[in-house]
Amino acid sequence: MIDRSLPGRETSYGNAGVLSDSSVYVFNNPSLIRALPVLLLNRSNGLRYNPLFVMKRIGWIIRFIFHCRPSHVRHAAKSLRALLLLSLDQHKKWIKDAGVGHLLRQGGGWLKLFRSKKGFAKYGAEMNMMRDVGVNFTVFEREKIRQIEPGLSSIYYKGVLMDETCSVSSPVDLTDAYVGMFVAAGGVIERAVVNGLDRDDDGWQVKCETGGPRRSNDVVLAAGAWSAEIAGWLGYNIPMAWERGYHLHFDPGKEPLLSRPILDVEGGFSVAPMRDGLRVTSGVELNDRDAPPNFEQITASAELAGEAIALDRQVEDTPWMGRRPTLVDSLPMIGPAPRHDGLWFNFGHHHLGLSMAPGSALLLGSLINGDLTPIDPLPFRISRFLV
Ligand SMILES: Cc1cc2nc3c(=O)[nH]c(=O)nc-3n(C[C@H](O)[C@H](O)[C@H](O)COP(=O)(O)OP(=O)(O)OC[C@H]3O[C@@H](n4cnc5c(N)ncnc54)[C@H](O)[C@@H]3O)c2cc1C
Repeated sequence: MIDRSLPGRETSYGNAGVLSDSSVYVFNNPSLIRALPVLLLNRSNGLRYNPLFVMKRIGWIIRFIFHCRPSHVRHAAKSLRALLLLSLDQHKKWIKDAGVGHLLRQGGGWLKLFRSKKGFAKYGAEMNMMRDVGVNFTVFEREKIRQIEPGLSSIYYKGVLMDETCSVSSPVDLTDAYVGMFVAAGGVIERAVVNGLDRDDDGWQVKCETGGPRRSNDVVLAAGAWSAEIAGWLGYNIPMAWERGYHLHFDPGKEPLLSRPILDVEGGFSVAPMRDGLRVTSGVELNDRDAPPNFEQITASAELAGEAIALDRQVEDTPWMGRRPTLVDSLPMIGPAPRHDGLWFNFGHHHLGLSMAPGSALLLGSLINGDLTPIDPLPFRISRFLV
């Protein structure tokens, strides 16, 4: 494994730690079309955009919106559910094998919260889809929300608890534990910046900024938001954009800690209890991958979160930023690259890369080895697009 940094220090470092079985309703669904007039005002905390980026990537935006049709939303829900279930099962096994059971929060679920009757009513379509694909969830009234999460104020009208969703208290500790297992099994981690990929009669050459080319018969490209650029070196045109997101930690003070991650759907932010404090994460910022960070959205998220739960001292001075790699149909690419033998893609996991990582690895491993695949690989095939 070649990484320019320690593994798990980019987007995988700062997520909300949710190991989801329930996130089956893709963001590009019919309600997005109805919400467009409001979203275009660029004032929603859940979604902000840089107009210049949107103009530059208008092709990506149109293709993303094109996938809002009900038939695709149903197809995506079934495909994501299969990958999420496979992944959650494998996470539990690996967490046990790695001896880091203390990181796993199992049985508490993931609580989505609604401030208004109107906001909850809009969530009906997602609940129907979750029911259709077998997700278990429970709806809670205002009082019951406070019973299960006494640290929350009474601003929430309804809550939907994803009963079987799990979470971890430190995504980076989980990555380190998995890296430990990889090394114990004979894997080698090398820290280097990859700057070229070439194939000759002897197989692949992975070129790096330092040292000679590393040779291999097979190469897996799994570089998150940087994958499209790297695939582009070989002529692939990957329909990817970056949904940037931020986090900040707060000391919970004397209030009772949250016992599970929460998502304020109308507020457009999450709060997750983490090793380093209460982690507030922001929604989506559509912007150039490498544009300077803009902390407005996370600042607003922290203010809104303060209405829901007591946040004491801010732990770090500067918010963290990550880049969710998102393809136009909100499904990852897992499988063989169409025009190059021995090149494999595994990226595009948007809001669910922590949740879907183990299943993606199992699926890709079986494809590389020519084994029976654990789930249907077709929804994730690269050739669904003309790349
Ligand atoms: C605010 C926020 C909250 C989120 N919450 C959740 C959540 O609760 N649950 C969930 O499942 N998902 C969540 N996500 C999404 C999840 O974090 C991502 O889908 C996931 O981290 C993507 O993982 P990745 O390995 O594809 O990319 P990354 O984690 O970004 O890793 C890419 C790697 O490629 C390396 N790399 C890039 N270019 C090169 C190069 N040229 N040479 C060598 N190495 C290179 C980088 O160093 C890096 O290690 C969240 C995301 C954000 C931003």
